[in-house]
Amino acid sequence: MKQAQLLNGKALAQRLQSELKEQIQTQNQFNRPPGLAVLMVGDNPASAAYVRNKERACTNVGIASFGQHFEIEVTQAELEQTIHRLNQDERVDGILVQLPLPGHLDAVALLLQIDPDKDADGLHPTNLGKLVRGEQGLRSCTPAGVMRLLQEYQIPLKGKQAVVVGRSILVGKPLALMLLAEDATVTIAHSRSQNLGAITRSADILIGAVGRPGLITVDMVKPGAVVVDVGINRVTDGSGSSRLVGDVDFDAVQNVAEYITPVPGGIGPMTVAMLLQNTVTSYLQRHQ
Ligand code: NDP
Repeated sequence: MKQAQLLNGKALAQRLQSELKEQIQTQNQFNRPPGLAVLMVGDNPASAAYVRNKERACTNVGIASFGQHFEIEVTQAELEQTIHRLNQDERVDGILVQLPLPGHLDAVALLLQIDPDKDADGLHPTNLGKLVRGEQGLRSCTPAGVMRLLQEYQIPLKGKQAVVVGRSILVGKPLALMLLAEDATVTIAHSRSQNLGAITRSADILIGAVGRPGLITVDMVKPGAVVVDVGINRVTDGSGSSRLVGDVDFDAVQNVAEYITPVPGGIGPMTVAMLLQNTVTSYLQRHQ
């Protein structure tokens, strides 16, 4: 059986990082490197791993890190003060609050405090509004990473049926808008959608952005579809060892799809690359 071609996010992200590194090295007329502040609260191991990855990637390309790690008891007011200080800090071009936050904190209110020009995660209402209006602005990193990967492999989107499973503000909704901007016909499915399989089987481009391992099974995929798996789920096997899987039953679906993203090595690294790119974009714009 013919196997799907891998959409190799890891390789593309590495290339994009090398390009950013070169770009940063040639921008020394500004007398400082671009700067990114990642704010993390508490000790959620997955979040801590993501933050480490982001900071490592910053170091690799030459972006200065101004991140701060707060105890779980930190107050909303303390975080808001930190964001206000970073908004004023000339060395900082991007600010990101690592989500999810502990229950006593209001993430929406915090994101609203970030200067939209430093909104490296593209989640400020101003930037989301620009996306809705089709205007230029900082785009959410994960959906932007999906779009960049599809572009790299020259996947046609115009007039194609795209189905996005998941409607979060972080992934599903902005991704649906980005696909729409490329003239795809977009359907968004979610936990209340009825007959999910019938919806997903209509997709030329199928995106899983849910967080349920194996939700998308082979019978839910149209032969020849392009399948993008945004989900990251840690599962433990019988022997007690754990591994990361997506929302798609990769082993089976790769036998019917035309293209498929692996997990890990697909959208995860693309998200980090887009974060670095957003930081550099803010840096250049702030100097113009
Ligand atoms: P959320 O939990 O915020 O959203 C999940 C979405 O999936 C919701 O819209 C929910 O519907 C929908 N959903 C839940 N169960 C079902 C179901 N049985 N059938 C159909 N839809 C369902 O998650 P995120 O959007 O933040 O993240 C989604 C996944 O992507 C997670 O695995 C996360 O770890 C991963 N992720 C990966 C990133 C990367 O870099 N690769 C970055 C960000 C996230 P409803 O709205 O009705 O509740």
